[in-house]
Amino acid sequence: MLMYGMPNLEPTLPKAILLDRDGVINFDSPDYILSPEQWRAIPGSLEAIAKLTQANIPVAIVSNQSAVGRGMIDNAIFQNIHAKMLLSIEALGGQIDHVAYCIHAPDDGCTCRKPLPGMMLDSLTALNLSTEPQSVYMIGDSLRDMQAAWAANVSGILVQSGYGDAADILAKARLHDPHIQAFPDLAAAVCSILKH
Ligand SMILES: [Mg+2]
Repeated sequence: MLMYGMPNLEPTLPKAILLDRDGVINFDSPDYILSPEQWRAIPGSLEAIAKLTQANIPVAIVSNQSAVGRGMIDNAIFQNIHAKMLLSIEALGGQIDHVAYCIHAPDDGCTCRKPLPGMMLDSLTALNLSTEPQSVYMIGDSLRDMQAAWAANVSGILVQSGYGDAADILAKARLHDPHIQAFPDLAAAVCSILKH
């Protein structure tokens, strides 16, 4: 029904954005990211984070890093990769407000490894948004990112910049959320979010 004389509604921006790391901020590899040299930003991703910061939207990173729990890299190298990422983001004016890494192996029985929602819930708490998860978006490249988001009542947005079969991931995600949005990469997703 068309309605006339409706008040202009304020555009609604998300109150925070949660980001997967590999395949969203940096190029992913089926062989894991095992050194700072292998951590390479996807073009436009760092600028996109800076745009969120400029728009006063808090950003958190929520990332499975089982290479640590599998013994493929030691903690010092893992921290060096993390430091390279943060420096790269900050160099362009971006800010990360919270970081949650699950370093466990899949059979460790943790509650944080996506698709479980532990890291989402921790991040919502850290950002003081536990009571309004629907106002938060999780941007990820894999189905388990979306499953973790849904389990925490966070809205999922897919980006198709990972190494997985993006069409298959989107088809599976649409079985749960027929209206899920998908974008080529983080830059395109953030551009769309900030237009609303
Ligand atoms: Mg990923």
